[in-house]
Amino acid sequence: MATPAPSASSMQVPLLDLKQQYAALAHEILPAVEQVLASQMLINGPAVGEFEKAVAAYAHCAQAVGVSSGTDALLCALMALCIGPDDEVITSPFTFFATAGCIWRVGAKPVFADIDPQTFNMNPAAIEAAITPRTRAIMPVHLFGQMADMDAIMAIARRHHLAVIEDAAQSIGATYRGRHSGSIGTMGCFSFFPSKNLGGAGDGGMIVTQDNALAQRLRMFRNHGMEPKYYHACIGGNFRLDTIQAAYLHIKLKHLDAWSAKRRENAALYTSLLADCPAVSTPIIQPENVSIFNQYVIRTAKRDELKNYLGTRGIGTEIYYPLCLHQQECFKSLGHRAGDFPLAEQAAAEVLAIPIYPELTHQQIHYVARAIKEFFL
Ligand SMILES: *Cc1c(COP(=O)(O)O)cnc(C)c1O
Repeated sequence: MATPAPSASSMQVPLLDLKQQYAALAHEILPAVEQVLASQMLINGPAVGEFEKAVAAYAHCAQAVGVSSGTDALLCALMALCIGPDDEVITSPFTFFATAGCIWRVGAKPVFADIDPQTFNMNPAAIEAAITPRTRAIMPVHLFGQMADMDAIMAIARRHHLAVIEDAAQSIGATYRGRHSGSIGTMGCFSFFPSKNLGGAGDGGMIVTQDNALAQRLRMFRNHGMEPKYYHACIGGNFRLDTIQAAYLHIKLKHLDAWSAKRRENAALYTSLLADCPAVSTPIIQPENVSIFNQYVIRTAKRDELKNYLGTRGIGTEIYYPLCLHQQECFKSLGHRAGDFPLAEQAAAEVLAIPIYPELTHQQIHYVARAIKEFFL
């Protein structure tokens, strides 16, 4: 008996499939990585500076400083601004832990501002309300690939003389009124964690800025505050980007816009297929924004049941993020309670990311949308 063709009822759709992307680029990546290995210039080899220039140009920034992760980008940015004890930094309670974790690690206090329920990004009015005499900076997060309301945030920052560190870990390539993610604030921080839309072969990150003097400070802080060698004017860390990562990422950067376009196409298809499923809300992208859909996040009151059901249908999903930062055990001493940031908390209870990666086929997208609708029948 012939093996039956895989039926539409038994398709596998992982949340992310990085193997396809690698297979398509291996012929470009392997020689570049081999060249780094042959040179043995594994730390700060020429590929690092070349990739920094390419990212600066891509993000429309004067400077780019490669670092060891998105987390270290945020940490290094805070250190370069000398933010520390007695300072407060306003950020979102609905983001990956690193955003607030870095504020804490420099000794400052993370102060949360609730989100806009349509975009999941910080609400500027809530930011303004959270400002105190100790506030030094605002850290907006461009969640899921859509930028925060940067004109409003920059206006608040100017009025109160605050720095703005864009957590652009999920948004390289996104724009807001035609301006690139990372290029508007005092600094922008990118992550090259493998599952991000520009993913490395391990950890990596980048800080971009329009300020040449600040870039110089960032370069010192990423290398133990050392300048010249073995003379330390300030205390930094080892936040360097490996040469191998830079070579690998430089090849991928050339494909980023094409991948982002595919993600947007996939998103548009999901949104049209799910339009007649009132139990599910699809992402809302503001007219001034172009999202790169690092994630495609739907909302439903029956989130956990839907996630389980999709799992039984071979569909990978993830919850970004199930618990808001103000409710995390490690920030207990901040004294927050459930209900302090109700819109973020409601989002945490309702969001579900479904597969959106560029290599998805239309057949897979139709299968996922059909399974979601079947769940609600
Ligand atoms: C991924 C991520 C980070 C941290 O980046 P790493 O490279 O994993 O250290 C920080 N903030 C947000 C919003 C992220 O999604």
